[in-house]
Amino acid sequence: MKVGRRKFLGAGSAALVGLSLKTDRPIAGSFVNDNFQMGHLLRDRTSFPPAKHVEKFPAVIVGGGIAGLSAAWRLRKRGFTDFVLLEMNGQAGGNARWGENEITAYPWAAHYVPVPGVKAEFVRELFEDLGILKNGQWDERVLCFAPQERLFLYGRWQEGLEPAIGLTQKDREQFQKLEDLFAKFRATGEFTIPLELGRSAKFQDLDHLSFSGWLQQQGCDSRLVNWYMNYACRDDYGALAKDTSAWAGIHYFSSREIEEKGPLTWPEGNGWITRRLLERVGEKVRTNQMVYRIAETQHGVSIFAGDTEFQAEFAIFAAPTFLAPYLIENFPRLDDFVYSPWLTANLTLERIPDSRGAEPTWDTVFLDSPTLGYVDAMHQTLRTHIERTVWTFYWALAEGTPAQNRQLLLDKDWTYWKEAILRDLERVHSDIRQCVSRIDVMRMGHAMIRPAVGSVFSQERLRFAQPRREARIFFANSDLSAISIFEEAQYRGVLAAQSALDRLHGHR
Ligand SMILES: Cc1cc2nc3c(=O)[nH]c(=O)nc-3n(C[C@H](O)[C@H](O)[C@H](O)COP(=O)(O)OP(=O)(O)OC[C@H]3O[C@@H](n4cnc5c(N)ncnc54)[C@H](O)[C@@H]3O)c2cc1C
Repeated sequence: MKVGRRKFLGAGSAALVGLSLKTDRPIAGSFVNDNFQMGHLLRDRTSFPPAKHVEKFPAVIVGGGIAGLSAAWRLRKRGFTDFVLLEMNGQAGGNARWGENEITAYPWAAHYVPVPGVKAEFVRELFEDLGILKNGQWDERVLCFAPQERLFLYGRWQEGLEPAIGLTQKDREQFQKLEDLFAKFRATGEFTIPLELGRSAKFQDLDHLSFSGWLQQQGCDSRLVNWYMNYACRDDYGALAKDTSAWAGIHYFSSREIEEKGPLTWPEGNGWITRRLLERVGEKVRTNQMVYRIAETQHGVSIFAGDTEFQAEFAIFAAPTFLAPYLIENFPRLDDFVYSPWLTANLTLERIPDSRGAEPTWDTVFLDSPTLGYVDAMHQTLRTHIERTVWTFYWALAEGTPAQNRQLLLDKDWTYWKEAILRDLERVHSDIRQCVSRIDVMRMGHAMIRPAVGSVFSQERLRFAQPRREARIFFANSDLSAISIFEEAQYRGVLAAQSALDRLHGHR
C-alpha cells in the first residue's frame, strides 16, 4: 500500500525533468551550528572571568543531547523537578538537533531509531510516554514508509543496501557465511542493546582485533562483502572496518532481531524525539550555557557557566566524556576515547532531481562513494505529490586519522564542501545543480565515539560507566557505551538520573 503511494513520485519527477532549464541555479548556504570556537576555548584552557552569581540546585545536568535530556526526563518522571540542564549550544538536542524551512523539518544528524527490542526497556517506556507505542503496537506513521533504501551500483539502482547485483558465486557464499556467523553470535545473547546487559568477557578477544582482521580470518576477501562491511562501520561508527573493533563490527549485525517493521523515523529525524522531550523538560533547559569548569567541593559540586556558579549536590555529566579532563578539576587524562569527525549538509531542492527513472526512497547510497549518501526529509509525508524537498547528506570522514580530518574540516571553506557534495551527487543525479537552491553544512570535529580496537572492554571507559558509590558526578554520555546510538544515549541518561536520585534520597 505504501509502495503504491510513492509510485506517483517517479512519474512526477520525470515530467518535471523534461521541463527543466539547463542552467545551474545560484546556490546559497554557509557553515551552520559550528561550535569549534567555543570548544577550542576549553581545549586551550582559556581563563574565564569569575562568576558574579550563585544559584543552588540539588542536581545539575551538563549537556542537552539525548543523554542529558533523558536524564531530565527520568528525574521529572520520578517527581524530582529541582534541577537545571545547561547546554552550550543555542538549541538542545546535540546529535539529535533539527532544522526547519518552508518546505519541511529536517535532521542535522541522527535520523532514525531501529524498532527497539525487549531489552531496551527504557526506550520502550519513553516511546509509550510519547504515544507512539501503545499496547505493543507502533504508530504506523512513524514506521519508515516503503521503499526505504536504494543503492546505486554499476550504473543502475537496486533496492536495499546490501549489494545484490552482479554477485559472483564467491560473493554469495561469503555473504551467506557472514549471515550464518552473525546469527550464531546473536544467539549467544552477548551482543545486546543496551550493550551492558549482554556483554561478558566471553568474546573479549574480539575487541583486540580489528573488524577487517576478523573478516580476513573468516576468509572474506570479496570486494562487495568488504564494501558492505565498511559501509556499516562508516555509517554507525564513522570509521573504516580496519579502525573498528571486531566486537563492535559483529555487534552491528548481531545485536538486533531481524525486524519486519521499522525503523522509526520522522521528517526531522531524532529531532522529533528531542522536541517531545523538550515539551516535557524544556523549562529546565538553559541554552547558550557552556560549562567551563566543574569542581568537587566538600559538600557537593560547583558547576561554572557564563557568569554563574551553580552549586549542586550532584552533577550529571552528559557532555562527551573526552571533555571531562578539560572541565573537571583534577581529572585524569583519558586515552581510550576516540571520536570520529563527520560532516552533514542539508540541501534544499526546488525540484526533485532526475534519478534515472527510479522511485525516491528514504535513504540513498552510492557504491564506492566516500560519503554515506542522503536521506529525504519528505519521505514520511502523506502527500502524494512532492515538488520540493530537503535532503540530508551524510559524510563520515573515515579515511585518514581523526586528527587529520578535524584539520581538514577547519581548513576547507564552504565552497570546497559544497562542490565535493555536488560532485558526489551528480554522478547519479546529473541535473542536481539545477535543482538545489541552498546547501547548509554542519562540521562536527568530535561527532561520535569510535569503537576503536580495544575500546569496548577498555578499563578506562568501564570505570566511568559504573558510578562510584560516593560519586558526586555521574557520567551519562552515549560514548560510555563505546558506540553512539540513540538507545545507548537514552540508557546512559536514565541510568545516571537513577543513580543521582538514589544518592539524593539517601542524603535527605
Ligand atoms: C552524523 C550523525 C548521525 C547519526 N545518526 C544516528 C541515527 O540515525 N540513529 C541513532 O540512533 N544515532 C545516530 N547518531 C548517534 C548519536 O550521536 C546518538 O544517537 C545520540 O544522539 C548521542 O546523544 P548524547 O547525548 O550521548 O551526545 P551528544 O548528542 O553529543 O550530546 C552532548 C551535548 O553536550 C553538549 N555539550 C558539550 N560540551 C558542553 C559544555 N561544556 N557545556 C554544556 N554543554 C555541552 C553538546 O552541545 C551536546 O548538546 C548519529 C550521530 C552523528 C554524528
